[in-house]
Amino acid sequence: MRASQYLISTLKEAPSDAEVTSQKLMLRAGMIRKVAAGIYSYMPIGLRSIRKVEAIIREEMNRAGAMELTMPMVQPAELWDETGRWDKMGPEMLRFKDRHERDFALQPTSEEVVTDIARQELKSYRQLPKNFYQIQTKFRDERRPRFGVMRGREFTMKDAYSFDRNEEAAGRSYDAMYAAYTRIFDRLGLEYRAVAADTGAIGGDRSHEFQVIADTGEDAIVYCPDSDYAANIELAEAVSLLASRAPASQALEKTPTPGKATCEDVAALLGVPLETTVKSLVLATDDVDEAGHPNGSTVWLLLVRGDHALNEVKVGKLDPFKAGFRFATEAEIVEHFGCKPGYLGPIGLKQPVKVIADRTVANMADFICGANAEDFHLTGANWGRDLPEPDLVADIRDVVEGNPSPDGKGVLAIQRGIEVGHVFYLGTKYSAAMNATFLDEDGRPKHFEMGCYGIGVTRILGAAIEQNNDERGILWPTAIAPFEVVICPVGWSKSDEVRERATALYESLRATGIDVILDDRNERPGVMFADWELIGVPHRVVIGDRGLKEGVAEYQARTDAEAVKVPVDQLEPLIR
Ligand code: ATP
Ligand code: MG
Ligand code: MG
Ligand code: MG
Repeated sequence: MRASQYLISTLKEAPSDAEVTSQKLMLRAGMIRKVAAGIYSYMPIGLRSIRKVEAIIREEMNRAGAMELTMPMVQPAELWDETGRWDKMGPEMLRFKDRHERDFALQPTSEEVVTDIARQELKSYRQLPKNFYQIQTKFRDERRPRFGVMRGREFTMKDAYSFDRNEEAAGRSYDAMYAAYTRIFDRLGLEYRAVAADTGAIGGDRSHEFQVIADTGEDAIVYCPDSDYAANIELAEAVSLLASRAPASQALEKTPTPGKATCEDVAALLGVPLETTVKSLVLATDDVDEAGHPNGSTVWLLLVRGDHALNEVKVGKLDPFKAGFRFATEAEIVEHFGCKPGYLGPIGLKQPVKVIADRTVANMADFICGANAEDFHLTGANWGRDLPEPDLVADIRDVVEGNPSPDGKGVLAIQRGIEVGHVFYLGTKYSAAMNATFLDEDGRPKHFEMGCYGIGVTRILGAAIEQNNDERGILWPTAIAPFEVVICPVGWSKSDEVRERATALYESLRATGIDVILDDRNERPGVMFADWELIGVPHRVVIGDRGLKEGVAEYQARTDAEAVKVPVDQLEPLIR
């Protein structure tokens, strides 16, 4: 590639609405251009990195035995009706009507379409297992698109779906994807952690997120530095750490006056400092059996915020014999409280929180005096309104850190992460809803056991930059850099020798398959260097008259402090 024929459009300053480093640098490097909130053009330089990410993912998915296909962006409501998700998805799913007044949506994910494919194409157990994947545009009308490609509305996802005969086989498919993800994120050159994630209504322990470690991450991870234990704080297990601070007796003693719960009461009850911001913390039910197990049908969730009043909400029906129960959706809670969306905190209310401490839970029902009365809730609370965005990690660091790790191998620490991948065992949730069956060996129809596996292709770029940057720009891991090497000739238009040697080097690197760009724009060295450091090309070779007299070029890796002189014919090993 010759820079003169390419589009290099760097900016000195990022647009003022850019919030985080990766977003600023991607805009300044000319990798993306904003078209609307959360909607970007991927410019030629940006697309190069995206294609490299995709290539690694594709290779590893194929290696793991998955098959690529593409499912439509535009999907009919009928399929989504079959699983009930047309109604459940809420405003994140962008819907519209065609000219015949038929309902459609832009795909936020593709379980329905792929399950429909499976029920038509896979008839016999002999055809199983199967794993289909696509690398496709997704649209999610995110409540708060931000941070550039990290939380876009239109973005690229790799989504895969496995179909198996039984749960055991589905477990093998899950493990194969977990292993493939490990290889993918290793190859991408990112520092990441696989963390246990919420399994929602499905239950079990087969849901893991791959989190890139970064201070700007929106997720909070609790982990044990001495063992493999790592979990998203959303997970009940992690949340329960907080509540375990409130023994039942304490809860009894501290039961506040009906209807007049103050923040002090709540803080005391939970055993956390008053200034701690705690959100969506305690689960309560109005009925517990003799053994202390929740028996009743109504589950309540207390929402607490440091210096603000308390609120509570009825979150769903509890089935004591099942691990999962339905929780209110964020939309329902927003409606119930009239609170600002986005303040519900990373302990998502969409996530089921298991009953935390049975006795406490029982007592909490008294505590929320009137919890049994339909539609009662404490008044005067303005939780969530006009407050700065909560900083969950900072808020609960002191509550989490130092607690024993659930695996007993050390103590817990907390850090931030960016969710770049998610593997999830689905069971028969979709196949049962859509009656997708195959004939098993015994001649009977069975529902497919499914798993789904997502990777945020475009988000990976943002996450990689959050992890790898300096004051001059991006420091790409070589595997996903838009170019591996840049050749900067000094005196392009003035010196025939510089031009010839630079071009010869360019041709020879290209011939060996190195992704090289020749900066033939005839710019001053300072301009060239600033551009390529901003864009983050890992290797730079400078060719000028002075060096050529000695037969050398200047070589500098993007991460090196200084350039070194290298004989021109010995450059290649440095770059490989
Ligand atoms: P998040 O918790 O960040 O909203 P999610 O759990 O809703 O993500 P999944 O449904 O698990 O996302 O989708 C699979 C992957 O797609 C995620 O792990 C993430 O990397 C990526 N992804 C999800 N939403 C976005 C988005 N708005 N912009 C860019 N990438 C996204
Ligand atoms: Mg999401
Ligand atoms: Mg998530
Ligand atoms: Mg996820």
